[in-house]
Amino acid sequence: MPLRRVYIDHNATTPVAPEVVQAMMPFLTEAYGNASSIHSWGQRARAAVEQARRQVAALIGAREKEVVFTSGGTEADNLALRGVMGAAERSHPHVVTTTIEHHAVLNTCQALEAEGVRVTYVGVSAEGVVNPEDIRRALTPETVLITVMHANNELGTVQPIAEIARIARERKIAFHTDAVQSVGKLPLDVKALGVDLLSLSAHKLYGPKGVGALYVRRGLRLKPLFFGGHHERDRRPGTENVAGIVGFGAAAELAHQHLEKEGERLAELRDQLERSILERVSHASVNGGGAPRTPNTTNIYFDFVEGEALVIALDLKGIACSTGAACSAGAVEPSHVLSAIGLPAERARASMRFSLGRQTTREEIDYVAEMLPGAVEHLRALSPLYKKPVGAGTR
Ligand SMILES: *Cc1c(COP(=O)(O)O)cnc(C)c1O
Repeated sequence: MPLRRVYIDHNATTPVAPEVVQAMMPFLTEAYGNASSIHSWGQRARAAVEQARRQVAALIGAREKEVVFTSGGTEADNLALRGVMGAAERSHPHVVTTTIEHHAVLNTCQALEAEGVRVTYVGVSAEGVVNPEDIRRALTPETVLITVMHANNELGTVQPIAEIARIARERKIAFHTDAVQSVGKLPLDVKALGVDLLSLSAHKLYGPKGVGALYVRRGLRLKPLFFGGHHERDRRPGTENVAGIVGFGAAAELAHQHLEKEGERLAELRDQLERSILERVSHASVNGGGAPRTPNTTNIYFDFVEGEALVIALDLKGIACSTGAACSAGAVEPSHVLSAIGLPAERARASMRFSLGRQTTREEIDYVAEMLPGAVEHLRALSPLYKKPVGAGTR
């Protein structure tokens, strides 16, 4: 029997939707014009880029002119943070963020710190949610930027962005949110959220890799990261990645169409997966399960198991998922997100993220729930700390 292949790692990246490939194809072949050229080749590329801008703007409730295309979510985060800092007229600027941000934000904050910017990292609850009042308490007269992610990539927990935005507006502080994990999964409107800046990435919503966008509220001053031509209204120079941008636009439109129904379907499958796993595996529980979450994500710890080993064991069964641990310089460091919610290092290293997607089926969920207990038991049998629960049989 051929090996089943079950990809449930959609928070890492998603497959490119067939409709997206189809939309991109002409721009990888005959429609190769530079969008800045005056001739008809250029005009065709320009029209396609601007259509994509409308599609992306429509998904998040923005005006077209407020969408700046970038090389992805990481660049969008860098542009938001450095762009605001560069435009700020303060000698000792201060930034407020959280301990659970993506490294695109956290490491940019660290780089800013090395350049003399003061940064406050606000902690989160045991469920992985930041308290807006803690953000308020961290503000100083020197605060020029608040950056808090919308949905966390590891836990799926959704942060109270609208409330934080209200605080930012009262104090006239720029507010950025990294919405890479929520765009296309949750209904999202930049005006209702009240944010000034919002990051997106195409490859997390069935578009191509290497393209993303930053929403920049009209009137907000932003210093560019790069210097060159006058592309993207002087905010991001460089010849446009026309095919990538067209794919992003098509993916945004698809996400818009699927949003509601797909959200319900995924939440049902995710809940089913959690129930099946917790029924069959002892010493396991959901991280951040009590918080509002994106419908596709669950993060579960399996005590006495090394997460990396479980990822490999499941890969051998054809299942792709990921662990909460991030490998840095050869050492397995516990994830900063799981540490931030108070998990001890061993439990953080025993945590797994399953993130479902558009092609995930009930049969796939059943297959994972069937394969997982055996893989966990096998690894636990190797652990000197693990004592088999009485009456657990040979499972
Ligand atoms: C994936 C991700 C990013 C980075 O986006 P890229 O397009 O891969 O650079 C940033 N933030 C979050 C929350 C992400 O999940």
